[in-house]
Amino acid sequence: MIVEGAIVDVDGARPAYVRLQKGRVVEVGRPGTDSRRGKDKKIHGIVCPRPVNSHTHLGDAAAAQDPPRAGVSEIVGPGGLKFQRLAALSAAAKEAAMRAALERMVGEGIAAVVDFREEGVPGVEELRRAAEGLPIDVRILGRPLRRPVEVGELNRILRMSEGIGISSAREENSLTRTLIAERAHRAGKWFALHASEEVRESPEAYLLPKPDLLVHLTKAAFDDLEAVARARIPVAVCLRSNALFGRGPDLAEFARAGIRLLIGSDNAMLNSPSVFRETEFAYLSGRLLHHPVDAAYLARAAFVEPWLWLDEPGRAHVVPGMSGSPLVLRLPPEDPAYQLATRATEQLIVPTGAE
Ligand SMILES: [Zn+2]
Repeated sequence: MIVEGAIVDVDGARPAYVRLQKGRVVEVGRPGTDSRRGKDKKIHGIVCPRPVNSHTHLGDAAAAQDPPRAGVSEIVGPGGLKFQRLAALSAAAKEAAMRAALERMVGEGIAAVVDFREEGVPGVEELRRAAEGLPIDVRILGRPLRRPVEVGELNRILRMSEGIGISSAREENSLTRTLIAERAHRAGKWFALHASEEVRESPEAYLLPKPDLLVHLTKAAFDDLEAVARARIPVAVCLRSNALFGRGPDLAEFARAGIRLLIGSDNAMLNSPSVFRETEFAYLSGRLLHHPVDAAYLARAAFVEPWLWLDEPGRAHVVPGMSGSPLVLRLPPEDPAYQLATRATEQLIVPTGAE
């Protein structure tokens, strides 16, 4: 099969054709120059790396109901509505809802998800069970429950997860953060946290100890963004989640500061785990709030940057021998990054034999 149109990948966007065999890229070149001379089925579209949902809390998928009009802390903060609902749900109900959320992401072509899984050791176990056998790479950042941190619990979580994801520097003191980061890094795992979501926090609070990933920075000042960019720490933004609480971070400023941007859908009780909806909303809300962001920056955040962060650069480059299979979308090739950021949907995914 030959897809003629455009490629969007780590090298940006360009006109191209891509020849695929059983979902694998075997040939790439300028449109009209393929070696098959009409012998292969040809379709028109865009070929790109598979999207990654870089920030979720899938555990609360079973608690999805119209949320009351209240602030972040009342809804998803420690002791808030989310944790009350979670406490009332059985492990089986949570697992079934997490599996449904993962299946939905698979349907959207998402190949990896980075989840902040609360609820200690059982929380991580539930998500691992929910993900069994699904073709999506589930990277779990667990969260120890006991304070002060109990090293036995922390080590158990580290053994079964990709690291630790905590609430924020406002909610976890520096002793806790330092201990968690040190143990995680010693085990070769990640340490991640939310930052400047409800109020601006000083960068020292969330950059020390040095995290591997930050989430939100909704309220960060431009100098803060520059400090994060200098530290080369990627930031996962979740604009639909921010919008629900009346906030719209300026992603054009993120781009100007040089932030390595990732896209996440945040709490599954608040938003569906769709990367396509997330990028479309980010693009449109930038226009609505008079701080337009480049579609190319958003497309990179959804399809390219996460693979570099996950240390799988081979999945970000559409070339013969690319690791894994790319995504093919039946979209017009003009202005391809814009098409991807604003118009991609599950219905436009072309089966390539890899699915
Ligand atoms: Zn979050």
